Amino acid sequence: MTPLSMASSEDDKLREYCGIFGVYGHPEAANLTYLGLYALQHRGQEAAGIVSTDGSAFFEHRRMGMVADAFNRQALERIRAPMAIGHVRYSTAGGNTLANVQPVWIRYKGGNLSVAHNGNLVNALTMRLELEARGSIFQSTMDTEVILHLVACSLRKTLVDRVIDALNQVRGAYSLLFMSEDQIIAVRDPSGFRPLVLGRLGDTPVIASETCALDLIDATYEREVEPGEMLVIDKQGMTSIRPFPVTTPSPCIFEYVYFARPDSRVYGQGVYELRRRMGVELARECPIEGADLVCPVPDSGVAAALGYAQESGLPLQMGLVRNHYVGRTFIEPQQSIRNFGVKIKLNPIRDVLEGRRVVVIDDSIVRGTTSQKIIRMVRDAGAQEVHMRISAPPTTGPCYYGINTPTEEELIAHGREVDEIRQFIGADSLSYLSIEGLYRAVRSTPGKFCDACFSGNYPIEVDDRALGVKAGTSG
Ligand code: AMP
Repeated sequence: MTPLSMASSEDDKLREYCGIFGVYGHPEAANLTYLGLYALQHRGQEAAGIVSTDGSAFFEHRRMGMVADAFNRQALERIRAPMAIGHVRYSTAGGNTLANVQPVWIRYKGGNLSVAHNGNLVNALTMRLELEARGSIFQSTMDTEVILHLVACSLRKTLVDRVIDALNQVRGAYSLLFMSEDQIIAVRDPSGFRPLVLGRLGDTPVIASETCALDLIDATYEREVEPGEMLVIDKQGMTSIRPFPVTTPSPCIFEYVYFARPDSRVYGQGVYELRRRMGVELARECPIEGADLVCPVPDSGVAAALGYAQESGLPLQMGLVRNHYVGRTFIEPQQSIRNFGVKIKLNPIRDVLEGRRVVVIDDSIVRGTTSQKIIRMVRDAGAQEVHMRISAPPTTGPCYYGINTPTEEELIAHGREVDEIRQFIGADSLSYLSIEGLYRAVRSTPGKFCDACFSGNYPIEVDDRALGVKAGTSG
């Protein structure tokens, strides 16, 4: 490995954190994709893009920024076509350049090919170094480009076979949409780390990261794309194949805890209800004697707080109000902005909190800075006691499969007792939902999901760790 390659990998952290959407065979495919991306905005707020095709020419529009800012009427007019795939992306430090905005579009000996990727490969750097040694030239720092190189280099004849060939060489998390002149191929990795669903708008197949994107365009939800399944959509219709070695599925449980929208169905279950059940379990496991009210951290703690209030019999009060015109604070790349962000985002209501013993509910504590600021804010608004309850277990490990969590050192729960965390955030008491409670809430049992961020059990070995690639650093 050359020092140069190493340096770029260290700086750019080959990680993804995204939402994808695609439509095959509808005159308004690009417009529908634009709407779909709106519904998936929570999955990535730093860049958005659409690539479309009329069956011969390809059109693209990719920009930094939120969907509303990235597209305008002219852009949508220019990319209007009956096949389209789109992507919203969050990128990490060093990776937020236009070269890293998806969908990627290349021309290779087989024609045009565009791809949108949600997830993270665990051997991307290993593969990249191998490809570079063979002369491949990379234009971005995305692991998605590794897949494209492997597709382009494949000696197989058809696109489907090339994609299979490429994906058999990579490991990790990928929900992918490929688009050529005449096909859309949707694939979910054999572990099924990231969600992917199939819907229909009339006869038109629509693929999306989450069902909330189908709802927006009035498409009906048909089913999940199964772990290890590949859907090939073309003039002949839709074919489902399972070209990869079978493994035990391990979809990400954190989609349920935080990441997916509550109005989505993920892995076949409604997210809102599961979050409410997490709150119910939390109230059973960690009750508080003599509290006056339950107050969610909006929006991440709302459904769990409702469940906690229902189960404990305490009143639910919206003691913190969220300004909806700012993005999630975690998502901004710099620590300085993130710190400031909590105040931009939340304001306490003194009338609700003053003199009260308050149970504050959120879904997770990552670095601890958000909770610390919120608790200070609630105390400044006159609360007599502040009890923090978290509707998931402590986040002790980074994610290598596509959720952006910081490194171990930055995770407040890594190597610390709950009481140390309590002191740091300044709460009168702090409790987390147990892993068993979380599984009860999601109507499942341990082993059925990837819960590495809580348990440290990583279902797929992270090859690139040996090359110095860490899971998320800041932001
Ligand atoms: P922190 O200040 O780092 O402890 O941030 C905790 C807040 O971030 C909680 O309100 C969570 O809902 C939210 N959160 C947890 N995980 C993520 C993530 N991967 N991306 C964005 N926000 C997150």
